[in-house]
Amino acid sequence: MGGADRAVSVGIQDGRIAVLAAYAQPPPAARTVTLGDDEVLLPGLVDTHVHVNEPGRTEWEGFASATAAAAAGGVTTIVDMPLNSVPPTTTVEHLRVKQDVARGQVVVDVGFWGGAVPDNLADLEPLHRAGVFGFKCFLLDSGVEEFGHLEPEAFARAMQETARLDALMVVHAEDGTFIDQSALDGVRYAGFLASRPRAAEEAAIRLVLDRARATGGRAHVVHLSSAGAVPMLRAARAEGVDVSVETCPHYLTFDAEHIGDGATELKCCPPIREAANREALWAALAAGDVDLVVSDHSPCTADLKQSGGGDFGAAWGGIASVQLGLPAVWTGAHERGRSLAEVVHWMATAPADRCGLAHKGRIAVGADADLVRFAPDEEFTVDVARLRHRNPVSAYAGRRLRGVVRATWLRGVPVDDTPRGRLLERGRR
Ligand SMILES: [Zn+2]
Repeated sequence: MGGADRAVSVGIQDGRIAVLAAYAQPPPAARTVTLGDDEVLLPGLVDTHVHVNEPGRTEWEGFASATAAAAAGGVTTIVDMPLNSVPPTTTVEHLRVKQDVARGQVVVDVGFWGGAVPDNLADLEPLHRAGVFGFKCFLLDSGVEEFGHLEPEAFARAMQETARLDALMVVHAEDGTFIDQSALDGVRYAGFLASRPRAAEEAAIRLVLDRARATGGRAHVVHLSSAGAVPMLRAARAEGVDVSVETCPHYLTFDAEHIGDGATELKCCPPIREAANREALWAALAAGDVDLVVSDHSPCTADLKQSGGGDFGAAWGGIASVQLGLPAVWTGAHERGRSLAEVVHWMATAPADRCGLAHKGRIAVGADADLVRFAPDEEFTVDVARLRHRNPVSAYAGRRLRGVVRATWLRGVPVDDTPRGRLLERGRR
């Protein structure tokens, strides 16, 4: 709490944290829950990078399964990415379609990003007014044809508009001119890694920084893989550019040296890089140069993922991990001497703050009573059959992780399969 561990009694009223009292002097209450000696209370995580895919690709993932997986992983708020569903969230009409489908299905709270694509510049303001948390765009082929990417000039115009709206522009930062399809070599991971070099990320991030600087707009770089971009981001922030950056549990967990050929369950874009790069990402997190960690939960069907002996050129890129982000990051943090309070900052408070959800992601008076009963020292082996997302494929299958979510509360109510989640809109509570 406030970035530290404390012994405390948390009083909840009407779904919000009403009082924080001394542990030995709990406030009077109709009902009391006492944690076990091996448990700690965390604020519910805020995962601002989740692809739900419903409607349109509901066989990949849907609102019921994605939010059930989130709750099982200690995540009480997700913000849905605008692509991979059909329609993508690029107009208010499309946003309403998604909200109508989600309503009545979600067990945690769900917000929506809008999409910035070619030819929808005039839709950004109405989407902003309709309550999206910002806009996601791609600077290269997104992988799905209904969500086009922005060339530099179109990106400049979109960034001008989001700056005018004071909306956050969220960018998939890889530059397609650096992508080398000829390096792909079937099942070999080394070929896939070589096809998406660090330079692709670094050039695209340079463009994002240039546009944020020129417009005074707010930008956020999603799923940073290359630690080589960190000095550039740090320097831009030091001169006042409003940019933030996230990385993901898989970049902090795996390394290219240990990814077997054909292991397409570990294919994502940008790719997982070498162990030395992973350690540099951890150092950047610890130094505050990387702001937050969110899942980029991006599932698909098992056949598209081509698990086991897959071709890296053909397999879908994306790692489904909304349920495993907390134990994965906590496992790595613990091994490196980082604290659970830091993990909570990276995965709950910082993402909530960056997208304007100041009443989420913290144990503080007035915040929503979204809470997690967590056993930080218990270990488990990932069994895909126990994961709640739709398709039982996981890059983490068989992996030993530390930290077990034993219960989750949303606004003070235990989360079960009852759809008590709300659809969130920016600026409204
Ligand atoms: Zn994504």
